Amino acid sequence: MNEILENNRKWVGEKKAADPEYFHKMAKGQKPRYLFIGCSDSRVPASAITGTGPGEMFVHRNIANLVVNSDMNLLSVLQYAVEVLEVKDIMVVGHYGCGGVAAAAGSKQYGLIDNWLTHIKDVVRLHEKEFMSITDEEQQLRRLVELNVIEQVRNLAKTNIIQNALQRSNPLHLHGLVYDIHDGLLHDLKVETDTLNDFKHIYGVEAVEHAAKVAEKIQEGKVTTPPDDAEQHKADKEESVLSKVS
Ligand SMILES: [Zn+2]
Repeated sequence: MNEILENNRKWVGEKKAADPEYFHKMAKGQKPRYLFIGCSDSRVPASAITGTGPGEMFVHRNIANLVVNSDMNLLSVLQYAVEVLEVKDIMVVGHYGCGGVAAAAGSKQYGLIDNWLTHIKDVVRLHEKEFMSITDEEQQLRRLVELNVIEQVRNLAKTNIIQNALQRSNPLHLHGLVYDIHDGLLHDLKVETDTLNDFKHIYGVEAVEHAAKVAEKIQEGKVTTPPDDAEQHKADKEESVLSKVS
């Protein structure tokens, strides 16, 4: 650990030399613009590949950059980033050469992690036709890395945290990126924020505002069962969160 501690002291010295107030400013709080959800792989350092410094990016990493809708760790990070820090851009960042993706594409057992990687097998199942049509194994894995990122962005859009955030006058944006460890370049997969548009009848949730309005009316005794007006409810539904994003 001596090397790590020495590196740290050196870094502190460099930062203070450039700006004597640097750490005083940092200690005041954070207001990052970005949330980065990436792989734990040591070759994908979040700050270095995005050129961001301390205070600019909130980070969550796990094996194969998965967004699992029942993962309390991820959901807690997401809610805090969106509702408290009010980040503007959320990026899911996969990377070519991902060991987790490669393991999921095979059938060898690795232990507990197999259950985590099942989420990537689900991506294969969803895109089986395309996946199986690629004959070159390396190309097949590269495509699976991309499809995995696309599906994880969709998983983000499924959460009520994101759907409610998209109701803001200045909504946030979702992005899917892939990092190439062979040349260091990031590629934007151009995943749209409204990626779930075709599935909003399944995953779309009504805005919290609507639910609050109904609850208020019930409390006031104006209605007994929500919704109070079938036509209005239908109209509200058609204006649901996922149809309003751009
Ligand atoms: Zn990885």
